[in-house]
Amino acid sequence: MIKATGAAPQVPLGSARPAQPTTTETPGAPAGDRFSPSPAVPRLEEVVARLPKVDLHRHLEGSITPETFLSLAEKHQIALPSHDLETLRPYLQITPTDKTLLDFLKKFDTIGLAFKNKEACRDATEGVIRDAARDNVKYLELRFSPIYMAAQYGLPLEDVMDGVVEGVANASAETGTKVGLIVIVERQMGPEKAKVAEQLAERYKDRGVVALDLANDEFHFPPGPYAEVFQQAKAAGLKVTVHAGEAGGADNVRTAIEALGADRIGHGVRAQEDPQVEQLVRDLRVPLEMNPTSNMQTGAASGWDTYPLQRFYKEGIPVTINTDDPAVSGITLSHEYQTAVEQCGLSVEGL
Ligand SMILES: [Zn+2]
Repeated sequence: MIKATGAAPQVPLGSARPAQPTTTETPGAPAGDRFSPSPAVPRLEEVVARLPKVDLHRHLEGSITPETFLSLAEKHQIALPSHDLETLRPYLQITPTDKTLLDFLKKFDTIGLAFKNKEACRDATEGVIRDAARDNVKYLELRFSPIYMAAQYGLPLEDVMDGVVEGVANASAETGTKVGLIVIVERQMGPEKAKVAEQLAERYKDRGVVALDLANDEFHFPPGPYAEVFQQAKAAGLKVTVHAGEAGGADNVRTAIEALGADRIGHGVRAQEDPQVEQLVRDLRVPLEMNPTSNMQTGAASGWDTYPLQRFYKEGIPVTINTDDPAVSGITLSHEYQTAVEQCGLSVEGL
């Protein structure tokens, strides 16, 4: 993995969208770039690091770095499989031998250990937002599954919610990064649990929750049975986003839009399997939250040559570039911007 190195310099607030540079020059870079660490470091890396960025698809649970994990473990007396950074890392992060969606999801067995109490939920949230701010993310929509986070230690759902809300308040005030929260419905938990998550999202609507999301095992659990719950969320004034067209086919993208009222689609890569679904997304201008590295790691896309990011963009389908689970994937949003240019053929201006 190529990682953006170092902390990106802060730029003034007020930009809720990625800047659109008109040249490939690094803003404010010294003439001749003589302070570049090495001629081998591409200037692109610096350009994307300095861009103020927006991430609309980032999971809180998958954004806790191994470093943050160790500090949480020490502060809250959490027993981990290892307390050595490099030995712990493969429990939390994709390795070269991890190839499947199951390998990816296995990491969440260990990640659940982080949420020992309300304060640990708060501290984890703060760490995640600080990492985003260091990558010059100015607006972040952070999604999480309260039911998953509460499960490991049997926490009350309110403790999870209150911890996350408090973490957002603290870290946003400290970093200036604005955060919207998205409550996740895990489709494999069934419609009854979905109602619990939806009601929780409604109750915390005036404390930073902006939307409800349908996530997890799309292959075995298509979106249809969740239409009622998501229509209820819309009626309550929440926005809706749905993971669709990742592990499942284009039909799920259609159902997410037509039956669940999705305002955005998580991933949507496999919309490319049906031209009519592509047309629907284009006509209704439903943004796709694409996650290039994650889509390769989980097998949602078979390779960069068929990854549709640039084609969607050129053909008028609204696309956004996001991280999904940056700590699990071992990436930053800057890395994904760089990937969009180097692997998907987007121009720097297109970012
Ligand atoms: Zn996701």
